[in-house]
Amino acid sequence: MRDKSTEDYFSSTPLYVDDSHLREFDAEVIKAGPRYVVLDRTAFYPESGGQPSDTGVLLHEDREVEVHKVMKRGRDIFHYLRGDIPVGTSVHGVIDWEPRLFNMRRHSAEHLLTGLFEWEGAGPKVYSDLTRLDFKPSGLTQDVVRRVEAEFNGIVEADIPLRIYYASRDELEGEEDERKRAFLVKIPRALDRLRMVEIPGHALTFCFGTHVRSTGEIGCLAEIELTEGKKRRKSVSFLLE
Ligand SMILES: [Zn+2]
Repeated sequence: MRDKSTEDYFSSTPLYVDDSHLREFDAEVIKAGPRYVVLDRTAFYPESGGQPSDTGVLLHEDREVEVHKVMKRGRDIFHYLRGDIPVGTSVHGVIDWEPRLFNMRRHSAEHLLTGLFEWEGAGPKVYSDLTRLDFKPSGLTQDVVRRVEAEFNGIVEADIPLRIYYASRDELEGEEDERKRAFLVKIPRALDRLRMVEIPGHALTFCFGTHVRSTGEIGCLAEIELTEGKKRRKSVSFLLE
């Protein structure tokens, strides 16, 4: 689904937004400098929201140039290279698929865990990434963590398809769901249409990241552990199988 909000936000068409399983693509270099390019379209995910950037290669003629980091700067998605490619060059991009898939699985797990802990009343989540969620203050206990672990693995087993859709600010402001309204505070006003990522029945958030198609793809938890810090700060670290 193409959406106008991405045009306001990016100078390139972010192909990964519509198809997070796209591994290869053709594009043209629209901006270039020493050791970087900006493309008219890209499937490379730029580092953001705790999800690391993709790596891979850009092929043109007989050359292969490594992409070692991708970052959004202003509206541009910068591809940092081990070499130079001039403006106007047609390139074929190939993403290192294994790390991307691993990141998508862990990032989708982060969504699911966030939803499950929210439901359990774990307290405000102050930080999360691909291996950890922090809550402060929190009355989270070992019992709750064990319960969430079982729920998580049950949902993976049930292989529930993720729902990704766009909603306008107005639609969300009219929502009765506190969670949906709470997103709006954190989001730049210029973004009117928001990309919502839902694991039906379990988790819902605004996100431009890349996700698996269904919960079965995430895989079960190999480990989930609760640690307690100062001032009722609780941290949950997790690892997938
Ligand atoms: Zn996400």
